[in-house]
Amino acid sequence: MIGWFPNLYPDELLSSACARYADTFRYPARMSAISDLFGDRCSRVAYDVPGQLNRLVSQLPSNSGITLEELLYRHTLFPFYVSTRSPEKARHIIAALGDSPATVLYRAVGMITYRQHCPQYLRFCDECVKEDVSLYGEPYWHRLHQIPGVLLCTKHECHLMESKVGAQGASLVSAKTRTTTMNTGRTSRSANGHLLGFANDARRIVEEGVLIQLSGLRFQYRTKLESTEFIWNDRLSTDKLGQAITGFYTSNLLHQLSFSAYSNDMRKLVNRVLGGPNYHPLEHLVMMRFLHMPLA
Ligand SMILES: [Zn+2]
Repeated sequence: MIGWFPNLYPDELLSSACARYADTFRYPARMSAISDLFGDRCSRVAYDVPGQLNRLVSQLPSNSGITLEELLYRHTLFPFYVSTRSPEKARHIIAALGDSPATVLYRAVGMITYRQHCPQYLRFCDECVKEDVSLYGEPYWHRLHQIPGVLLCTKHECHLMESKVGAQGASLVSAKTRTTTMNTGRTSRSANGHLLGFANDARRIVEEGVLIQLSGLRFQYRTKLESTEFIWNDRLSTDKLGQAITGFYTSNLLHQLSFSAYSNDMRKLVNRVLGGPNYHPLEHLVMMRFLHMPLA
């Protein structure tokens, strides 16, 4: 039994609290902390959605009252990843995540296919860091700042900074070790508007549980594309639509949103989003914003 676990701060990633736990007890090796928290079969703690959570939940102090489901919905990127899936599918994944590594989730929601959208380094907002240190005495990793496509802090409307902590390899690295390496760069005024829009949509998905219901969405896509004549005589002009999306967002913004894998050719994105199955919320948010379809 671990006996003690830090209270989670508002919007704190579970992996961030685990890192603070390891700092508090000054584990000589992070693997020992991982083993105590998640069991011997666990080798790393994913920054976004840790797996093998049953052992940790069973060890939390009895007065915490936190369930596996609450941890996933309030302190991980789980609600973002499953926002395009049915509640029944989400429940199945939750049950599996109790004893299985995070790869169960990645496979179930298709995240392995979309790895390019995941942040390379953990991100932070300078203003949030100042506030957190003032309020809680220490900084911590916010989950809103790590969501794919979120490059602005919705609270302070400023650009997020990249730390030196690699997201994919990160395992129990607390925010105290953050160091600024590069700014994400300034974007044009209109691009900032899009970035703030994506950040606010993502915040509503994780905090308010807004779902992206694909069956209704695909019907709306078709209606919009017909009314804007991207679909004409029942045929979709993929070239024209791809070019229009690039013109709408600019290549620079699409690069920032990690769509550079499309090499300025958005036809692949068009085929994936409209042809399905495509479960990545960010790809749908990009198409929805282009077609002026607000999140429900
Ligand atoms: Zn902030």
